[in-house]
Amino acid sequence: VYNFSAGPACLPEWVLKKASEEMLDAHGSGMSVMEMSHRSKAFEDILHTCKDRLRRLMSIPEDYEILFIQGGGSMQFIMTAINLLKHSADIINTGQWTKKAIAQQKKLGKVNVIASSQDDNFTYIPKITKEDLTPDSDYLYICENNTIYGTKYKELPVHDGKLLVADLSSCILSEPTDVSKYDLIFAGAQKNMGSAGVTVVIIKKALLQENDQIPDMLNYKTYADNDSMYNTPPTYTIYIVGLVLEWIEEQIGGLEEMEKITHKRAKMLYDYIDSSKLYSNPVNKEDRSYTNIPFVTGDPELDKKFVKEATEAGLVNLKGHRSVGGMRASLYNAMPIEGVEALIKFMRKFEEENIG
Ligand code: PLP
Repeated sequence: VYNFSAGPACLPEWVLKKASEEMLDAHGSGMSVMEMSHRSKAFEDILHTCKDRLRRLMSIPEDYEILFIQGGGSMQFIMTAINLLKHSADIINTGQWTKKAIAQQKKLGKVNVIASSQDDNFTYIPKITKEDLTPDSDYLYICENNTIYGTKYKELPVHDGKLLVADLSSCILSEPTDVSKYDLIFAGAQKNMGSAGVTVVIIKKALLQENDQIPDMLNYKTYADNDSMYNTPPTYTIYIVGLVLEWIEEQIGGLEEMEKITHKRAKMLYDYIDSSKLYSNPVNKEDRSYTNIPFVTGDPELDKKFVKEATEAGLVNLKGHRSVGGMRASLYNAMPIEGVEALIKFMRKFEEENIG
């Protein structure tokens, strides 16, 4: 099947094959990675190779630390505030994932929602000027790609010297990222980077702080000081992330090449939707996501029929998020161009059969 799930999502076939080949005997150890002690030399090599590859692929400067943390993106809604919120937090509300961050961070301090696109059902990215920033805020928090509504920042907002904290869960590794423009990036692995169970945090080393008030498991410094192994890390998930990074680096040829494929996939689908009489995408054109593409027919019954028939045709997980309805195609790194071609072919046939 072609799996259009928003996450956990499809993985490159190359990764799945390699993982199954190594299932019973990984790296000559005579065991599966699942069975390895996280303190073993074999696992340490897996962890360090994974980190080194990520640093190389994303050109992560040496003054940033790479951390592997459990608890998902949702834990980062809280950890970012626990570690960085002293006076107040500025947040731009662009949908479900910033709403959740706002709700969590409010439990820990003052939150200023300095802009929002809720007035138009989150179909655009609000523009801000430096006057919108709150004088005493510690950071500006954004969700760079909105998995549910299908919007993406094409340029970062002004933050006027304040820290920039960004959730890249659904766009990381789909294109090159200039890490030096951010102070903290986080991304759950289960969309574009691997399987569920680990979140990658890329944080400026200067932000790691001794603080007796913060429980050790919630302090980024604990993870930095202990090579992300203060407690048992999700070893198998880290191994899968390492394989995905190997695939991007050695099979695809790096993030510039990945970006060309990302743009090609998205353009194919948007061009078709824009030319169709049946389907539409509600998002402001310049804010459209490359990785999550919602579309509707305008008739909820027809949408249901679409999802059912698409599933029967082997195009699965196209149902839109429950808060938006309609359909959504998530086109992450592992989605082959043939998958997008198959989807468009099906959409065209469905349109011919169902347009009144
Ligand atoms: N941030 C974004 C952009 C997401 O799309 C999601 C989940 O889909 C999350 C955060 C929450 O991630 P998790 O379910 O790993 O907590």
